[in-house]
Amino acid sequence: MGEHGHEQVVFVADEAVGLRAVIAIHSTALGPSLGGIRFWHYEHEDDAVVDVLRLSEAMSLKASVAGLHQGGGKAVVLWDHPRRARSPELLRALGRAIQELGGRYLAAEDVGATTADMDGIATVTPWVTGVSESAGGSGDPSPVTAVGVHHAMRAAAAKRWGDPTLSGRHVVVQGAGKVGAALSALLVRDGATVAVADIDDARVRELVRTVGVDSIPAADAVTEPCDVLAPCALGSVVNPETVDSLRCEIICGGANNQLATEEMDDALLAREILYVPDFVANAGGILNIAEELTGYSRERALASAARIEQTVERVFTAARDWNLAPGRAAQRLGRERIAAEAVPGGRWEPGDPAAWTDGSPLTRLRPEG
Ligand code: NAD
Repeated sequence: MGEHGHEQVVFVADEAVGLRAVIAIHSTALGPSLGGIRFWHYEHEDDAVVDVLRLSEAMSLKASVAGLHQGGGKAVVLWDHPRRARSPELLRALGRAIQELGGRYLAAEDVGATTADMDGIATVTPWVTGVSESAGGSGDPSPVTAVGVHHAMRAAAAKRWGDPTLSGRHVVVQGAGKVGAALSALLVRDGATVAVADIDDARVRELVRTVGVDSIPAADAVTEPCDVLAPCALGSVVNPETVDSLRCEIICGGANNQLATEEMDDALLAREILYVPDFVANAGGILNIAEELTGYSRERALASAARIEQTVERVFTAARDWNLAPGRAAQRLGRERIAAEAVPGGRWEPGDPAAWTDGSPLTRLRPEG
């Protein structure tokens, strides 16, 4: 906490309902912290703590660079299998812990979590986003995330080739999941040649049939010669083993934590591969949630995600001016905004207004009705 400036870490246990969780608030300097709940199998509690500290800090930077008035937080639940359903009692116990934080941590979905989980938590606390659309929630963020990645890719194309269009470019999409599928469709519509790789063959076949992409083996995704590699599966795609075998000019995708280490940012710069920092490219997901706070509109969420194109341009300009790799420049931009625009006292406390409440205390997350 000391090294990375976390404000608060809360351990939650309720043996009767099988709950063990850790909630980390990295920063509320720009407003209430927001971040997903991850249901994951951790060998040791220490692993869960490390994960939640790292992820909550990343959320602060993501929100800051995206221009949002919110901080970074995250929760992890130590769970044997992400797909094993949670009982209503467990969700209520977790919800009560979130409620006790008085709005300093706003929950959302992350790996393993579902809309049903958010609905369960919402029975005891208002401080949860991503609830069902019928309850005023924002629904599946993936199409909005894909639009943001598409615009980030346009900014990278303009920087690399002097023209934002992806028409005629060869793009490899790694991961034919919710984001990868939506992104592939946008790219095909642009006139790009898209090759998709996934360990789940059925998902690729479906995209070949419905969207008109080509299929490549999952093992070849990273080494396939292409103009753009779009990681839309898991993290650490760029690591010491893969970095020298990449055959692309741009890396821009929706996956979180694409670089195994910060040094990979410098290695890509040295190889003249233009990297769009993942937390800038995939901010469509939290921009989508932010729209929920003022009364959700998918149209506004999509327009907001489209502005990621300008954010990426800003990151590239900063990287050039500061002579830094793009990931490092984006982190610095995020930290500088947090320092410059911090709320009075540097922390958001329960009962404080939020940027969207016109000076009144924040008492609920979604407009009534
Ligand atoms: P998803 O589970 O729908 O899709 C992931 C896909 O990746 C699956 O089809 C899976 O089979 C495939 N995959 C896993 N390992 C692979 C490998 N080694 N090679 C090829 N394919 C592999 O997930 P999603 O919602 O599309 O999210 C994709 C990534 O984007 C994740 O890293 C996620 O954290 C990140 N992200 C998603 C959103 C969102 O709105 N969904 C927002 C921000 C970031």
